[in-house]
Amino acid sequence: MSDLLVCGIGRLVTNGPGGDLLDVVESAAVVVRDGRIVWAGPESGMPSGYRDGPVIDVDGRAVIPGFVDAHTHLVFAGDRSDEFARRLRGDSYEKILEAGGGIHSTVAAVRAASPEDLAAEASRRALRMLRLGTTTVEIKSGYGLNTPTEVAMLRAAREVGERTPLDVVTTFLGAHVVDRGMSSDDYVDLVIEEMLPACAPLADGCDVFCDRGAFSVDQARRVLRAGSDLGLIPRIHAEQLARTGASALAAEVGAASADHLEQATVGDAGMLRDSGVAAVLSPGVSLSMQMPMAPARMLWDTGVTVALATDCNPGTGYIESMPFVVALACLEMGLTPEEALWAATRGGALALRLADRGWIGPGAIGDLVVLDAPSEVHLPYRPGSDLIWQVIKRGIPVG
Ligand SMILES: [Zn+2]
Repeated sequence: MSDLLVCGIGRLVTNGPGGDLLDVVESAAVVVRDGRIVWAGPESGMPSGYRDGPVIDVDGRAVIPGFVDAHTHLVFAGDRSDEFARRLRGDSYEKILEAGGGIHSTVAAVRAASPEDLAAEASRRALRMLRLGTTTVEIKSGYGLNTPTEVAMLRAAREVGERTPLDVVTTFLGAHVVDRGMSSDDYVDLVIEEMLPACAPLADGCDVFCDRGAFSVDQARRVLRAGSDLGLIPRIHAEQLARTGASALAAEVGAASADHLEQATVGDAGMLRDSGVAAVLSPGVSLSMQMPMAPARMLWDTGVTVALATDCNPGTGYIESMPFVVALACLEMGLTPEEALWAATRGGALALRLADRGWIGPGAIGDLVVLDAPSEVHLPYRPGSDLIWQVIKRGIPVG
């Protein structure tokens, strides 16, 4: 395979050879061979011999690593826009449930959907994400709540990786909510004894919604330990609606990430930092639900690895755009543009335990985003504008 040379880069955000914050090269070039970056640096210092293959001259634009969206519920069916409109009119959650809304309406729609429809719809969402600069996406199950449908969701998630250029990481989230008509303990038994063994071959990680109205810390511990025994990386929906102690559990089980954390304390942050658990934050959900943002500034200042994600889902935030999430993290969470960009790229990669992306340098995957702007600051400066000029996935121009 021939090289791809990207040259004329006005500002290249590399996140450093070790993924460090704020490493920038001006007047730069990047060379990708066989999907991996083989050279990046000042164009004047580029060795000869890299100009033989295809060349993309970006004419002074900024180049950043591809976004890594570390938390999504991208496989779903049905339409809950009416529920969103009701919420804006002030209807209570009870009223919305009465009208057939809520997560169980998605569960019913996913159970009724064909495998082809699940994969096709999720792939369309993933392709929109790709056009917005996302090159790696995590996708959870969790709208099946029974073994065959959880398996079908994970198959559809894997299909997204085959039908689109994106790299997909899959997570089993059977313990999302308790299925209707079951006790929560019986449901946890079903998750551990039946769903997990069937789903583990299709999943990279195991997640639990540990919160008020969902699963307790003790139940979450049982599920995550059972998942670990099957080789799945633990992650956890933690401290979103109520502070339950899920952060401490994340530290205890060696989770890759604790996600949400709107109610997390300084003590929780210290535990996450000390045990190397990344904090995956979703400001789009807080915006969509009109609820308080997670304490990103505090988490960052405590030394926690912070990642940003869309948490794209049909109920609490149908948001596909990582540039929009970066803008929210700056405007509503108090991160700087450099911090937010790092969290949306390198932070996401670390939350997914993918060492080979989220930075630009020899050895990294050739996932690049060319901005139609001179710097990454334009992402939060101009929220809602289409600033993606070209997406390059594994050295191939896409989207
Ligand atoms: Zn979620």
